[in-house]
Amino acid sequence: MTEGSLVNDRSRSTMTSSRFHLSLSVAVLVFGLVACGEEKKPLPPKVEEVEKEWKSTVDGERAMQTVIRLCKEPRVPGTPGHVRAQQLIKAELAAAGVTQIDDQPFETKTPIGMVKFNNIIGVIPGKTKDGIAIGAHYDSKRFTDFPFVGANDAASACGLLVEIGRQLAAKTDRKETIYLIFIDGEEAFNEDWGSQEDGTEDHTYGSRHFVKNMEKYPVKALVLLDMVGDKDLQLVRETNSTPELLAMFEATSKEIYGKSIFGARMDVQDDHIPFLRAEIPAIDLIDFHFGPDGKTHWHTKEDTLDKLSPKSLDRVGTLVLATLPKVAAKYVK
Ligand SMILES: [Zn+2]
Repeated sequence: MTEGSLVNDRSRSTMTSSRFHLSLSVAVLVFGLVACGEEKKPLPPKVEEVEKEWKSTVDGERAMQTVIRLCKEPRVPGTPGHVRAQQLIKAELAAAGVTQIDDQPFETKTPIGMVKFNNIIGVIPGKTKDGIAIGAHYDSKRFTDFPFVGANDAASACGLLVEIGRQLAAKTDRKETIYLIFIDGEEAFNEDWGSQEDGTEDHTYGSRHFVKNMEKYPVKALVLLDMVGDKDLQLVRETNSTPELLAMFEATSKEIYGKSIFGARMDVQDDHIPFLRAEIPAIDLIDFHFGPDGKTHWHTKEDTLDKLSPKSLDRVGTLVLATLPKVAAKYVK
């Protein structure tokens, strides 16, 4: 994913900086702060501040074990490590009690030639096929100068998705079907998020393929997880996300943690965008502040397991499970 719909680092930093100044002036207006020296983004409370309120419903440690297994090697589409990641995800889903696990293979043109992709969909049947999707991308970004394992981006979300699946599969009397989508090809092959020479997009390959082929999977809303494992968890209020969904998650966050765990507003381009374009309500639960300066670990060799915490997985997973019934009640009739 990337911030905004920007195609190169220079415009990205310019945009970030102008948005930054805008949000700062809003903060000054609202809170009457005096801007003397360092600019500060509004931050959500730290994990420790809400921890005592927190009754978890997922096992963050067990989710982390899946994350660790996914981070043994890069998961770049078209490589053997990518195929092994698929096998691992399917084995983990089966062990978690998910009985229907579908492959959705496809091949398409990318800046490095034709590449084979495969979305993996775990289905937890309800009384109706209409359902809620929970998604995470399992591919890792291609880097040629170092092995990038994408621990937070997005092995963290895949480990949590398996654990969420385990909790949901243990209960079978749900009206809605749950679709656990392990999305392929989110990352751009080119260094920057943008288009191929022929104008087609060089990113979100799997999510775009999924929304074009939904006959078997009548998804009524998407909850997307991405970069959810950072020790210093700060979910953003993602501005493309469906406002009703964001409001539901924020309200639930206040119920279970005593306060909202969402921080600054941010425009993030991610796998929820193809769903939104297809008029499917969607939310991106993402922490796009990764590293001491905000982005220093994102898409660098620093995106490794030591930056993650099972507590963050626990916290996001608990929020998802608590909000899911409300999402289903609104969107699955
Ligand atoms: Zn990425």
